[in-house]
Amino acid sequence: MKTDILGVGFDTLSPEEMVRAAASLIEQGGFHYAVTPNPEFLLTAEKNEAFRAALNGADLSMPDGIGVVYASKILGRPLAGRVPGIDFADGLMDWMVQNGKRLFLLGSKPGVADLAAVNLKERHPGLLVCGTHDGYFKEDAPVIAAVKEAQADVVLVCLGAPKQELWMAQNGPATGAKFMVGLGGALDVFAGHVERAPEAWQKAGMEWLYRLIKEPKRIGRMAKLPLVLFQAAGARVRGK
Ligand code: UDP
Repeated sequence: MKTDILGVGFDTLSPEEMVRAAASLIEQGGFHYAVTPNPEFLLTAEKNEAFRAALNGADLSMPDGIGVVYASKILGRPLAGRVPGIDFADGLMDWMVQNGKRLFLLGSKPGVADLAAVNLKERHPGLLVCGTHDGYFKEDAPVIAAVKEAQADVVLVCLGAPKQELWMAQNGPATGAKFMVGLGGALDVFAGHVERAPEAWQKAGMEWLYRLIKEPKRIGRMAKLPLVLFQAAGARVRGK
């Protein structure tokens, strides 16, 4: 059962439960995917039906922004808390090491995924990275073939939204991978190109502010975010 926040379903699981749920989906066989919506996703999904369908077609959906958690509270159906996609990926990689699963990194500018692979193998000794591909390809077929050839179990799909969700929903099953998760700019963080907020900022729910200070050009994107709270309040008043 997912919790509906402005038309997008979310799982009410803790970060640890989310990793356990992904592990059991991987063991189950077949293809599964996870999404990490933040408030910007909700605004885009409102106007983009294909994106909304790709989000709601996911097996797992984690609130990757404090704004989603606030909106859930305003709506009167509070989510368990934030589950940053990047932390989820770290937990999943620990499980993958213990279980000998193969990881493929897809996305970002050429060279970034390779650098991320080096750093991730250092952070998770024994991690099996079976392939990488940049995110600026014109045709899907060679990328699908690369994932298939690498016999990947799990793919981190970092193409930005809504591209990554549409890509997973459409092409995931053909790759033979068992699990994919859309992670936006995570490879840039893993590669060390983008710095994450210190833990104290993360715990205070202020990661967005830290990011804004580091990348002021995001102000246009972020200025829209309070809209999600207004919409949640509107929906509550209308009794939705
Ligand atoms: N990207 C990509 N292919 C594209 C467009 C974007 O691989 O066609 C990558 C981009 O290089 C960046 C990520 O997707 O690494 C999107 O980052 P963004 O900051 O938008 O994501 P967020 O972290 O905000 O979800």
